[in-house]
Amino acid sequence: MNSPATLARDIDGKAIAATVLGEVAEQVRELTAQGIHPALAVVLVGDNPASQVYVRNKILRAGEAGIVSIERRLPSTCSQQELLEVIAMLNADPGVHGILVQLPVPAHIDEAAVIHAIDPAKDVDGFHRENVGGLVQGQDVLTPCTPSGCMRLLEETCGDLSGKHAVVIGRSNIVGKPMATLLLQAHCSVSIVHSRSVDAPALCRLADIVVVAVGKPKLIDASWLKPGAVVIDVGINRIDTPHGPKLVGDVDYNSARLVASAITPVPGGVGPMTIAYLLKNTVLAASKAPRIA
Ligand code: NAD
Repeated sequence: MNSPATLARDIDGKAIAATVLGEVAEQVRELTAQGIHPALAVVLVGDNPASQVYVRNKILRAGEAGIVSIERRLPSTCSQQELLEVIAMLNADPGVHGILVQLPVPAHIDEAAVIHAIDPAKDVDGFHRENVGGLVQGQDVLTPCTPSGCMRLLEETCGDLSGKHAVVIGRSNIVGKPMATLLLQAHCSVSIVHSRSVDAPALCRLADIVVVAVGKPKLIDASWLKPGAVVIDVGINRIDTPHGPKLVGDVDYNSARLVASAITPVPGGVGPMTIAYLLKNTVLAASKAPRIA
């Protein structure tokens, strides 16, 4: 256990995201000087309150970085065909460099059909199978934003990750699997722990780096951690407390910081990095787009 004087230090996602957004703004200035105005299209279907907040934040941050945003709102009753037609128009528009369809889409729409309708060169979420396959093969493709943000937090915290043992808890397509792939590319030894793993805490205690994306409040406490481990908590869970609703991660922060050497708080850790990397992907897509004559 750390003594009170040596509690794990916080990994400041807000500060690191601000650095990334500064890099993005600089890239936008360079592209603009060449006559390219990076543009992100955000498509929202229906009126899910959480999705509305996410979309508003993405558009706000894009504007701050000098990225043009194009918002397309469709009613929850819209057909899959109508949504696919909007995507086709955005695909064909040379002035649009990134396309994001805010998930989840209503149940009558096939999410995979929507993801795979997006031009892979404009797929700034990195969910298209062409980008997923490219990532696994180590190609330079658009990569999911949350895992990319987590990698930056780890690089800023640990420097070279080569040879470290990383345990990723959770195996979703949007976080766990791409996270494990990126850690492997950074030359970590990687284990993936999931809902069917036997003695998950014992596997996790082997890790120098722990990345948690499960969606269960405070699942991981100090007993899961090797002393000195670096902990990245992707989880965002809303819980009720006597003082009102509160956001917590998948890691029991107060317990884990007694053993870890560094940890992301929730909020203020991974969350700000996700939007920053969405915008980084948008400028990357803009820089590779065919030039309009
Ligand atoms: P998901 O539900 O798609 O996947 C959860 C994974 O956790 C599954 O692979 C499952 O096997 C695993 N799991 C479930 N119970 C487990 C257990 N007891 N032990 C070990 N593994 C277990 O979730 P997701 O989309 O990957 O999201 C995970 C969390 O991260 C959620 O809280 C979500 O809100 C959050 N999230 C945050 C950001 C961000 O920007 N900070 C982005 C994406 C997701």
